[in-house]
Amino acid sequence: MALSFLDLLFPKRCVSCGKFGAYICKSCFSKIEFIEKPVCPVCQRQAIGGKVHPGCQGRYRLDGLVVAARYRGPVKSAIAKVKYKWVYDIGKTLVDLLAASLWRFGIPDDLILVPIPLHTRRKNWRGFNQAEILAKSLSLKFNQPYGEYLARIIETASQVGLKRDERQKNVKEAFRLRTGADVSGKNILLVDDVYTSGATMTECCKVLKKEGAGEVWGMAVALG
Ligand SMILES: [Zn+2]
Ligand SMILES: [Zn+2]
Repeated sequence: MALSFLDLLFPKRCVSCGKFGAYICKSCFSKIEFIEKPVCPVCQRQAIGGKVHPGCQGRYRLDGLVVAARYRGPVKSAIAKVKYKWVYDIGKTLVDLLAASLWRFGIPDDLILVPIPLHTRRKNWRGFNQAEILAKSLSLKFNQPYGEYLARIIETASQVGLKRDERQKNVKEAFRLRTGADVSGKNILLVDDVYTSGATMTECCKVLKKEGAGEVWGMAVALG
């Protein structure tokens, strides 16, 4: 591959081991732990196609979960890298990871991709929302509609280091439907970078289902 002018100015380095040449080098790429067996969004035990187990179903719960890889090693480094500064090529790698994993999941085909929103203040400070870029890229790649239907109305503290019940409490009532958004009868695929306890996505799912949404699935690059 020929080096472009930009490559010479900003040489690519592996986000995981620091080697020059690519953002995720071959050796680190081979260490990515793909989710070979989809899991239930509620109990995170193995579930066919990523669909919620019948016993885990709930009126306002997610209907399924799509995740590409474990939140470890190069995937964790790549996600950390684009959190505060979006690097197109790294973002594209994350999108490709998801795209390559999709066949394992039994998602409905008429889904609208909806990003998990950041609070306006945080988005302005950061300059972008990584979930929005991921959702938009996937929407273009798969020719599926995209909609920014949700708003984060409470600037929640970081979920990192919190236990499951603390996470739920932290994001409770943090979201609402955007003015003018109509989700009734629509199937929705919520998009974020990492899925850990699922508290954030479940809270968003609740807002959407209370407004009459049909199936609501979650999708994240990594399972934490
Ligand atoms: Zn590497
Ligand atoms: Zn389950």
